[in-house]
Amino acid sequence: MNTTRRGFLTAAMAAAAHGQLGAQESGHDHQEVPSDLTLRVKALESLLVEKGIVDSAALDALVDTFEHKVGPRNGARVVARAWADPSYKKRLLSNAPEAIAELGYTSGQGEHMLVVENGPKTHNLVVCTLCSCYPWPVLGLPPVWYKSAPYRSRAVIDPRGVLAEFGLQLAEDVELHVWDSTAELRYLVLPERPSGTENMTEDQLAVLVTRDAMVGVAKVPAPRPGGNE
Ligand code: FE
Repeated sequence: MNTTRRGFLTAAMAAAAHGQLGAQESGHDHQEVPSDLTLRVKALESLLVEKGIVDSAALDALVDTFEHKVGPRNGARVVARAWADPSYKKRLLSNAPEAIAELGYTSGQGEHMLVVENGPKTHNLVVCTLCSCYPWPVLGLPPVWYKSAPYRSRAVIDPRGVLAEFGLQLAEDVELHVWDSTAELRYLVLPERPSGTENMTEDQLAVLVTRDAMVGVAKVPAPRPGGNE
């Protein structure tokens, strides 16, 4: 790898790790998509609507669903339930789509999901090396960094380095598993329940769970003393 490329990767990962791409995550600015492709998509959409093949109201409803109704809070509720209810956790680990549907979360891009559990000596990290496959019903749409070429390649080549750039230093004796999502099978990380949460309700637990922890680039932080309800 030449120094220019290394410099680019380092800068891109640093920006992602520090949330500098956050502004783009909330909008529709997919930086890595060439503008001619964006234009082609818009042209195709206009044509399909014009010919009456798709209904623009239906498209708006789909976009609204994924912007406002489906997102990482759904995944957080799944994780909190698994932490609070051992029998639910067992169902979640053996048949994720069914267990997730129990909480009412069903949508496309989540027909086949596998939940992988983190523990004191095991850590799981999720990537899609080919594109950006992601468990939509529980995490919503993927963040920009998840779709970026540096994350997709380096999560496999140097997963510990990537985690370190996200601020997670993994001890040498922790076994690290990297899961490569596909359109057929998408992964959700069940993070470790932090200490100090023993007396928390399921609702309080759900507040602690972050999107990044469910992708495996972070841990769920322990509640600050006196900082949580
Ligand atoms: Fe993909």
